[in-house]
Amino acid sequence: MRPLRPVEPNLRRAANALLAGELVVLPTETVYGLAADAANPEAVAKIFEAKGRPSDNPLIVHVAQMEAVELWSDHMPKGMLKLARAFWPGPLTVVVPKNPRVPSIVTAGLDTVAIRIPSHSLALAVLEMTGMGLAMPSANPFMGLSPTRADRIDPSVAAHVACIIDGGPCRVGIESTVLDLSDGTPKILRPGTITAEEIEAVIGTVEVVDSAERKAPGMYKRHYAPAVPALLVKKAADGDAGLVFGYTTNETQIQMPSDPVNYAKKLYVALSDLEGRGVERIMIEEPPTGTEWAGVWDRVSKATAAL
Ligand code: AMP
Ligand code: MG
Repeated sequence: MRPLRPVEPNLRRAANALLAGELVVLPTETVYGLAADAANPEAVAKIFEAKGRPSDNPLIVHVAQMEAVELWSDHMPKGMLKLARAFWPGPLTVVVPKNPRVPSIVTAGLDTVAIRIPSHSLALAVLEMTGMGLAMPSANPFMGLSPTRADRIDPSVAAHVACIIDGGPCRVGIESTVLDLSDGTPKILRPGTITAEEIEAVIGTVEVVDSAERKAPGMYKRHYAPAVPALLVKKAADGDAGLVFGYTTNETQIQMPSDPVNYAKKLYVALSDLEGRGVERIMIEEPPTGTEWAGVWDRVSKATAAL
């Protein structure tokens, strides 16, 4: 399926498909999303089917405005408004108590719902046209690499959608930071480009649970992974295929940016490039430590974890 140019009639087409209970692929600032009407359980079921996503993995509801959050949650936890003012629209997802309007298929039966306002103008335009909340995980088969360009959408997912809107490369490149506000001290369930420090500057102490110990729903040891084995190494050898920081020594090495923002932006496209070139395994040079690298570390650890 050819991605459509992001012009009004095509956005309208995407909105109409969503209104009819179909799936569409939309660009967001994080990664491309596979969208369905969050209030329609049959439409949401198509997301799980298209991705092969287990039904115990809850989805994020995307909305266009703060007022829309109140349609999905009757209770705004402490700090919610401050966070919204500081980070929305943008790549921060908050987990809050859900209200009865949220179908249980969206939350995998939990009594909380994950919500965010994305900052991509095309995603916002389609949200406005439909007036909906959109359940929208990444548009890739379960466990695989998230697409950050329209040409990286897997045909097995594309086969389930009415259309794909091409918004060019995603600005952020990895999934949103997920922050649980539903129970006591706020907890980062998934690190992203918005860091713990940035969140603490707005609402005070947050808990950062080590990803290996995190037992949140929909958290898996292996995730965000290329189809070929990947390994974390201090330094790639000259003949290795992989993601490196210094000079490349063969054409199956990709030089990665030395700052976390640009690294995150490039990560999934670089891995999918190597996957597409048919290399046998991918060596990923360990990124620097430091909290601003937490989102990248989470993704490369999961991409290299055993099943
Ligand atoms: P994604 O897979 O990028 O669509 O992000 C969805 C992730 O957000 C899930 O895999 C969960 O880890 C997290 N999430 C969504 N809803 C909830 C919830 N109600 N409680 C805790 N985590 C959630
Ligand atoms: Mg995903």
